[in-house]
Amino acid sequence: AVSSAEEFDFFYLVQQWPGSFCDTKKGCCFPDTGKPATDFGIHGLWPNYAECKTRGELDGALEMVTRRRKKCWPESCNSERLKLWEIRDLVTELDANWPTLACKGGKSFEFWTHEWEKHGTCSNLDQHGYFATALGFKARHNLTSILADAGIVPSDTETYFLSSIRDAIREGTGFTANLECNRGVDGETQLFQVYQCIDRDGENLIDCPLPMQGNCKDRVQLPAF
Ligand code: 5GP
Ligand code: 5GP
Ligand code: 5GP
Repeated sequence: AVSSAEEFDFFYLVQQWPGSFCDTKKGCCFPDTGKPATDFGIHGLWPNYAECKTRGELDGALEMVTRRRKKCWPESCNSERLKLWEIRDLVTELDANWPTLACKGGKSFEFWTHEWEKHGTCSNLDQHGYFATALGFKARHNLTSILADAGIVPSDTETYFLSSIRDAIREGTGFTANLECNRGVDGETQLFQVYQCIDRDGENLIDCPLPMQGNCKDRVQLPAF
């Protein structure tokens, strides 16, 4: 069956800082390929609407029952399963750049499968295109070195101005990104994820169209990993 194109406005390319994922009450586990590099890792490439919509705006028939529910992105658009065969030439690069850190068995392929099923199936990209697009943007804009060039290096003692991180990413990539923080085991505020925005064709970075309440404070840490 031919499915129609998904309508969305832009992608978030979300990368997680491993030191911040691990310095939490839940902790983390390394994938069966071993400890990942001290580098941002991909979390996912997520199609998004520029404005949250009521179900009624998306599907008139359901408006009466679901009027209040807002949808801010499409998800799980079809039941196509990720096939290792389709991405076989990308696996080495994916293991290095999209490793799982959750304590769920250590198989990064299961993380990629989750992201494909939830977000990739709505992307209008095929499986190879979805993963190659995320890897390509990560390689083109190395956030770890962009931050290091601005003097923002992993440390368990140093704190950095959130504004200096924001500025470094804008200068290093040419576009504004959204930032998300989490809390370490000692309650410290840590840079957790960077959300870069990409046009709906998956071709160019854009300034992020939506501001985000990302739980950050004026000063944040970038914990060692
Ligand atoms: P959390 O509640 O941990 O922020 O997000 C849980 C999951 O919801 C994410 O891993 C992601 O799959 C999805 N999600 C959260 N925020 C967004 C968003 O702004 N856009 C999209 N497309 N998905 C999101
Ligand atoms: P999302 O929040 O994208 O919907 O869901 C992330 C899912 O992938 C969760 O079920 C989580 O357990 C799993 N997962 C596996 N590895 C990772 C990882 O390294 N980071 C995050 N955020 N989730 C992971
Ligand atoms: P999921 O239920 O979808 O496995 O994960 C729910 C949330 O918990 C996700 O945002 C994911 O990032 C986080 N999470 C899942 N497993 C782990 C883990 O082992 N360690 C940490 N720090 N977070 C996790």
